[in-house]
Amino acid sequence: MSIDKRKKYQCVDCDEKFEYGNFEGCSKNAGGEHVVARKTYYSKFLSYNHEWKMDRTTVDAQNNKKTIPGKRAQFQKGKFYTTDPEAQAFLDEETERGVLITEKRYLELFTPQKVQKERLERKVEESKGQVTELEARVAELEAEKASGGKKGSRRKSA
Ligand SMILES: [Zn+2]
Repeated sequence: MSIDKRKKYQCVDCDEKFEYGNFEGCSKNAGGEHVVARKTYYSKFLSYNHEWKMDRTTVDAQNNKKTIPGKRAQFQKGKFYTTDPEAQAFLDEETERGVLITEKRYLELFTPQKVQKERLERKVEESKGQVTELEARVAELEAEKASGGKKGSRRKSA
């Protein structure tokens, strides 16, 4: 899978709808970049720097140099969130490629073993309770059947 370039975005600041590549031109944002709803990404590396766009310097007609900062994701404790649609498109792709991981996988990896063990134990206790209930029910039914059997009054279906 690659970046879905037909995906439509909607800026949360100016409400304008735009497509992949048209990340700039925001009327509400000083930097001119559109902003989308915040999304969190996960890495199996707790401290991870992912840079995909280098800083670049442009020179305009008046020979003024302007540096456009590159784009990077700085993961802290394995998490990074962004409202930048361009970053999201890139990071979505990285997640699909397996460079980044899903939230589910992240939780599996980084939930402390102690917490995981406690959760598991709680589940076991719950199932034990259910088994006890079922056993009681079975015993009840067997008792009913036994007493019914003596009377020989097994109901016949019509
Ligand atoms: Zn906008």
